[in-house]
Amino acid sequence: MSIDLDILKVQGVKINYYYVCKRKLWMFSKGITMESNNDRVMSGKIVHERSYPRVKNKESLVDDILKLDMITSEYVREVKISSKMKKADEMQLYYYLYYLKKKMNIDKKGLINYVTEKKQEEVVLTSDVEGEIEEALVNINSICESKYPPTLQKLPYCTKCAYYEFCFVKEEN
Ligand code: SF4
Repeated sequence: MSIDLDILKVQGVKINYYYVCKRKLWMFSKGITMESNNDRVMSGKIVHERSYPRVKNKESLVDDILKLDMITSEYVREVKISSKMKKADEMQLYYYLYYLKKKMNIDKKGLINYVTEKKQEEVVLTSDVEGEIEEALVNINSICESKYPPTLQKLPYCTKCAYYEFCFVKEEN
């Protein structure tokens, strides 16, 4: 598949949400943000701030769209609280690697640091993953352009989601 990355490029968080829940992606894309009130998100921010305390200027903003936790000569590194959303975390990092390669001719590997489990996972971009990223970008574009959210589906982690009340609490008469 050949895509126009200038048109389809998105923030990394949208790739993450695409794999977590397409309805969450749609709400985020419409500016409905409830994340700042969510404990899990707050603790994620604290974890990010406390990671790599000896390293200065950890976060890098690329093209005003990608917020990389840390970039070294070999790796793009991401910090996550736990590996519960492993697929989404991996695809977000793969997307960063894909973007750097396609737009800037920069080849890096990825490293995810799961803080709770104290483990690291290396990811290496392949042509199969590139195809998956391209398909995801096309689908993300169509979800975000849609006037209506994807149909509600109960997922195992809905009760921990910042949008839970939005999705499931019915108005009282
Ligand atoms: S509560 Fe569930 S369905 Fe609603 S946005 Fe969150 S994960 Fe998706």
